[in-house]
Parts: sequence; structure tokens; C-alpha cells
Amino acid sequence: MLNIVLFGPPGSGKGTQSEKVIEKYGLVHISTGDILREEVAAQTDLGKQAKEIMDKGELVSDKIVIGMIRKKLEENQGGSGFIFDGFPRTVNQARELRKALTDYDERVGVMISLEVPREELVKRLLMRGKESGRSDDNMETINKRIDVYNRQTIPVTYYYDKMHKHAAVEGTGSVDMIFERIVKVISMVKQ
Ligand code: ADP
Repeated sequence: MLNIVLFGPPGSGKGTQSEKVIEKYGLVHISTGDILREEVAAQTDLGKQAKEIMDKGELVSDKIVIGMIRKKLEENQGGSGFIFDGFPRTVNQARELRKALTDYDERVGVMISLEVPREELVKRLLMRGKESGRSDDNMETINKRIDVYNRQTIPVTYYYDKMHKHAAVEGTGSVDMIFERIVKVISMVKQ
């Protein structure tokens, strides 16, 4: 199996690139942001709690997110692998992902981080806010999310660095150019 963590700040293009990776390698997409937005849309208790946190640009609790991941893993066994998008976002989540995959005798093959300058992230997210109406894509929440990323999520890169699984990819340029860089990294880990 091929398990990939696609990592990067908000607006770095994880969702866009995930779609292309899935198309090429037939992986199961697990986006914690998408799962949370489904809960919000369905107005579940979890969704109501999550919406408040997401609109503030803060992180939903590790416990909730890890529960969601474990459920997805259980429901989607037998495929050719997973791509994790927007997860793990804390070192604790990274450790819990490792434990959950170990239960299936699996592991993360590579963690690919998309690197994009802050000004570009803000520009892209403001544009997305206008087009898709995502309520967390406004100036105040965008700045908060990037700060939260720098403080709580960047340490995840050191976690994968230590295991020699972290590959940084330049996340600027055309969608296809960025995808080519990602494919190059994947070809080095795929047997
Ligand atoms: P972006 O990468 O643009 O911030 P996401 O869809 O990945 O978009 O996340 C949107 C929001 O959902 C986050 O700001 C956070 O509140 C919540 N969220 C998503 N994934 C996680 C996670 N793994 N841990 C905690 N909160 C999360």
C-alpha cells in the first residue's frame, strides 16, 4: 500500500493536488477538513461544535479528529492506500496516525509538504472565499489559521524529518508543474 500525507499551510493547494494524486494512484482521500464540513452541513452535534472552532481558525480537538480518522481507515480497507489531506495537524495527531496504521500493519510512506509564501496563501484564500463562500476564508480567520499552522502544525514536519520521511515541494507555479514535483517524490517511495 501507498500511504501519503499531503501537508502544507491553508491555501497551499493540498485539496487540488490530492485530487490529481488520487486520479493517478487510486488512493482513498481522507480530508479531515472535508469530513468536518460534512458534519457542519448535516448539523450534527459534532458539526455544531466544530463550526464554532473552524470559524475562529482554531484546531478541532485531537480526540475528535483521530476518532474520524480511525473510522475512515476501518471503512476503507482493501484499497491501494490513503492520502491524508489536512491531517496530521499536531504532533500528537501524527503519533496517533502511526498507531492507527500500525494496527493494520501499515505506515506512512512519505510526507510531502507544499511550500508557499504567506502573501500568496492569503491571496489564494481570499480568492477562494469569494468564489466558494467558505466562511473561514476571510482575512481575520485566514491570518489566525496561518498563525495556528506556524505554531501547532509546523512541528509535525520535524516529526517526519526524524523518520526521514519528509519531502518539501515548491507549491508555487502551475497546478501541473506542482503535480509533476509531487509525482517525482512519490516515484522514489513507491515500490
Ligand atoms: P485549510 O487547510 O484551508 O485550513 P481544511 O479544510 O484542512 O482547510 O481545514 C479547515 C478547518 O477545519 C481548520 O481550520 C480546522 O479548524 C479544522 N480542521 C481540519 N483538519 C483538522 C485537524 N486535522 N485537526 C484539527 N482541526 C482540523
